[in-house]
Amino acid sequence: MYDIHIWGQSKNSDPKFPCFRRNDGFRFPLEIPRRKPHIWQLDTLIDDGDTMTVDTNKEALGFETEVQQLLDLMIHSLYSNQEIFLRELISNASDAADRLRFEGLQDDSLFEDDSDLNIRVEYNKTQKTISVLDNGIGMSRQEVVDNLGTIAKSGSRQFFESLTGDQTRDSQLIGQFGVGFYSSFIIADKVEVVTRRAGLPRAEGVRWVSDGKSEYTVETVDRPKRGTKVTLYLRKEAKEFLDGYRLRSIINKYSDHISLPIVMPKEGKDETGDETVNDAKALWTRNKKDIKDEEYNEFYKTVSHDFEDPLCHVHTKVEGKLEYASLLYIPARAPFDLWDREQRHGVKLYVKRVFIMDDAKQLLPAYLRFVKGVVDSDDLPLNISREILQQNKVIETIRSGCTKKVLDLLKKLANKEPDKYKQFWQTFGRVMKEGVIDVHDKREELAKLFRFKTTHEDTEEETVSLDDYISRMKEGQTAIYYVTAENHATAKNSPHLEIFRKKEIEVLLLTDPIDEWLVTHLTEYAEKPLASVNKGELDLGDLTDETSDDKAEETADDKLDDLTKRIEKVLDERVKEVRITRRLTESPACLVADEHEMGRHLEQILKASGQQVTMAKPIMEINPGHPIVGKLQGEADETRFGDWANILFDQALLSEGGQLEDPAGFVQRLNSVFLELK
Ligand code: ADP
Ligand code: MG
Repeated sequence: MYDIHIWGQSKNSDPKFPCFRRNDGFRFPLEIPRRKPHIWQLDTLIDDGDTMTVDTNKEALGFETEVQQLLDLMIHSLYSNQEIFLRELISNASDAADRLRFEGLQDDSLFEDDSDLNIRVEYNKTQKTISVLDNGIGMSRQEVVDNLGTIAKSGSRQFFESLTGDQTRDSQLIGQFGVGFYSSFIIADKVEVVTRRAGLPRAEGVRWVSDGKSEYTVETVDRPKRGTKVTLYLRKEAKEFLDGYRLRSIINKYSDHISLPIVMPKEGKDETGDETVNDAKALWTRNKKDIKDEEYNEFYKTVSHDFEDPLCHVHTKVEGKLEYASLLYIPARAPFDLWDREQRHGVKLYVKRVFIMDDAKQLLPAYLRFVKGVVDSDDLPLNISREILQQNKVIETIRSGCTKKVLDLLKKLANKEPDKYKQFWQTFGRVMKEGVIDVHDKREELAKLFRFKTTHEDTEEETVSLDDYISRMKEGQTAIYYVTAENHATAKNSPHLEIFRKKEIEVLLLTDPIDEWLVTHLTEYAEKPLASVNKGELDLGDLTDETSDDKAEETADDKLDDLTKRIEKVLDERVKEVRITRRLTESPACLVADEHEMGRHLEQILKASGQQVTMAKPIMEINPGHPIVGKLQGEADETRFGDWANILFDQALLSEGGQLEDPAGFVQRLNSVFLELK
């Protein structure tokens, strides 16, 4: 609360614009007509010389718990990387200018006769402060509370739940989250924000102050200038930043690419006035060959709010009928909200250098939602809305151009930098696989980029491309074989693979839940069908003729007809059919699904996700060469035969990672056949 005295008249001496003096001596004109005193929340306005009390409506508010957690974590994690506070504040100032330009398109009175947008960085050695000022959009009181007192990012709750309390691990996570405004508290023990939203009267300025502990205060203040001033009161240990050259070098390192002038007072005793300390040209409009890698990387950090360098980028300027520039990046790490269905896309749309929107989903397909960057078009209207974007021809062309650029970039990475590509695939491979399901025309092109685990590699990493696979196919092999399972061990040890191992045929091990859907959409590659090893009759094509005993086996199979019929009768409830197979060499039996039916693994996934599934009964295949099968053939006792048949079925189910319906029954039967063995 301040006591305010009416002190005189402001320069224009219009009685409607009185001048005030606050009890702390501060004098200011109040350029609002007396008729609107409610702005100061006064009931009455009094005559010259009288005293009145103005309610600045100061309140102290607690931070959201999450802000508190974030502040603690950040101060610990980023201690060795303190200088980034300036990048974050400048990036916010630049966003604020972008937003003012955008809103100004509809209403140019927002510029308030000051359309030279810039960012100013000042420091004061005596007061030990650094300030970043902008004349951008500013914030209203409510916006200050919402933006600086809470974390509004989507998915932030999941992020905080994923924190472990282990500082080293959590420090890595913080990079994924992006630090933003709160990074000020790494070097400051008090931060003051004074701001006014463009278009609001000067009496509706806001002051926010906090020591970054648990509370902050907000109050309404007089603020003649639109925009925001953030002042950091430095901690003792952070004095080194009170140096004009140091600040300039940080700006050059992180913020050179900001398209707005960043000005600082000139250094030197006799110097007066300001100078611009950055390049002030939108990075994507510059010539590729003049841009250093570091500049690309720093720009990435500004657009993506990421903390680490990206994996790679592609910068394009398209000229001709349609003109646009795009600068697109592949991050090195997955954002914390990659799997959030609401997750934002990372490409910003500019029209003729004016920022139009974040999260422009139309610019890239969903399976490339991890790509960050900017697209700047010369052919779109400045007032384009999200709705219009959806059916705009220009956007469609840009989208297909950008998609192609990203896929080409990935192809290049795969060929030239396989290690980086591996990292990419491990991080975003699962998202890329959605592409084959979502779009039809790019299946083959996308599948070329896919990597899989395989029986030919010992590692659990996905490293084999379909082209690698094809180059290793056996003579006479016509299909690309795969097995789907819950994990690497189950896939690798699946009984279905026995014959493939014997014949040294490579099989892809698909263990991602999405793989089940992938194979229903990607049914062939390079004109070779993808074939499941656990579905349908095994047709190894010409490969069967390779081993001479195959023929002899076939005749022997006929004699087992009676046995299969007998087992079928016992397992009537559980199987659709029992048949002889040659796919097994070590196991006595396995289960397969009919060609067009859902595989068991897919059934498990659906069940786990809470869906009702009615599973068709499987086909049981038995290995005629296995001693247990031989023993079964000679078994006269019906009860014992029944036990064995059920055990074979349950075993087969277990070995492919399935769950027994009646585990106790299985154990009982197993024990009773053990007791028979003498
Ligand atoms: P981010 O920039 O990722 O949104 P920050 O923590 O850096 O997160 O900033 C939080 C929010 O505070 C911003 O989204 C913006 O709404 C607001 N903000 C911060 N600085 C400014 C500023 N200089 N001018 C206007 N709004 C700002
Ligand atoms: Mg920010």
